Amino acid sequence: MEKTLPFTKEQLEAWRDRYPTPFYVYDEAGIRACVERVRRAFAWCPGYREYFAVKATPTPAILRLLASLGCGCDCASETELLMAERCGITGDRVFFSANQTSPREYAMAHALGGVINLDDVCEIPKMEAGCGVPETVCCRYNPGKFAIGNDIIGTLGESKFGMPKDQLFAALKELKEKGARRFGVHAMLASCSLDAAYYPLLARELFSLALEIRETLGITLDFIDLSGGVGIPYRPEQEPVDILAVGEAVHKVYDELMTANGMAPALYTEMGRFITGPYGYLVASVTGEKRTYKHYVGLDATAANLMRPAMYGAYHHIIVPGKEALPKTDRADVVGSLCENNDKFAVDRMLPETEAGDLVVICDAGAHGHAMGYNYNGRLRSAELLLHPDGEVTLIRRAQTVADYFATLDVDEAFAKAGQKA
Ligand SMILES: *Cc1c(COP(=O)(O)O)cnc(C)c1O
Repeated sequence: MEKTLPFTKEQLEAWRDRYPTPFYVYDEAGIRACVERVRRAFAWCPGYREYFAVKATPTPAILRLLASLGCGCDCASETELLMAERCGITGDRVFFSANQTSPREYAMAHALGGVINLDDVCEIPKMEAGCGVPETVCCRYNPGKFAIGNDIIGTLGESKFGMPKDQLFAALKELKEKGARRFGVHAMLASCSLDAAYYPLLARELFSLALEIRETLGITLDFIDLSGGVGIPYRPEQEPVDILAVGEAVHKVYDELMTANGMAPALYTEMGRFITGPYGYLVASVTGEKRTYKHYVGLDATAANLMRPAMYGAYHHIIVPGKEALPKTDRADVVGSLCENNDKFAVDRMLPETEAGDLVVICDAGAHGHAMGYNYNGRLRSAELLLHPDGEVTLIRRAQTVADYFATLDVDEAFAKAGQKA
């Protein structure tokens, strides 16, 4: 699908005057429409809820927007739990899917009223130390093999997440003996899957597991969590997942395996990328060019603002606003300023001719984009803006400053100690 922008070059220029590049901008209308489609896709399932994976876009304005549309939060750390709480998202609107978790984090999740999703049978004592055994608890399944593979998660036998079936059954049995009364299972077996069969196949796997759990342990699951992993078309030649068709396909499997066997578990999803990914843009300015063995177009953004290309070799489409109609005659590597040769947003990308000062938009950066930012080379994390349906923008995260960077350092103390030793 041809990628287009929900804003104009003139709008971007006006924003740049107020908020220097690089910055992120999120399209509220796009996110709203996406959540609406997801809700329609699963409207047939009583108790359905999307628990947005906070790690994808951990920004309060985004979480509040999603909460206003009926979504909960899937958290994985103390800070993410605190952010949910500060956004007023508590109780059964919080899911806690951590791994290698501390008793303290279990205690926090439980105090918020959230549902704990155990990654391993060995986590039970840590959970008990933190908050005892809650009435409602979920266990994370890893079947070891699955029909749909994925580069990011890799083979499931190599994945650190979830429990094999025997351990999952042991965990459920132990939790029941220790007083848990409501149970769910969870699995995330792919990441960024564009295969419309992913959720239906995963549903089949988990519904079959639910029947086996009832048969073997006498436990009737209250909910089944399909987690995240639904992909987005990063490349223009890829097609988006038709979530309405996916919802219908899951419905068929649900009727066949659950309804027909007298079960009616609620379904949950924990999509991150699908909800915000396509609706976030990293906006940067061209700083200049360099012609050596290759042609380089330099930006004022770096991999510290968007790590996916450096980390996974991920493709992010790049648009030069105002030059969309020009021929793409320039083959260039689009690079940041880090002292790291993988600091490239694109390699051998065909672009229109650019010059210093041009604005450049890096698409599909709304999930796992700003969130994965870091401070290498002392580069600072950017601002985030929310574009409202009326065309106005709100600053929802200011840019990090040099003072923020130095705030965790005690420069004087360090100098004093070094001086004593010398
Ligand atoms: C990362 C993650 C998600 C969201 O994954 P997406 O690929 O962004 O949909 C959901 N649940 C858990 C437990 C995760 O770790």
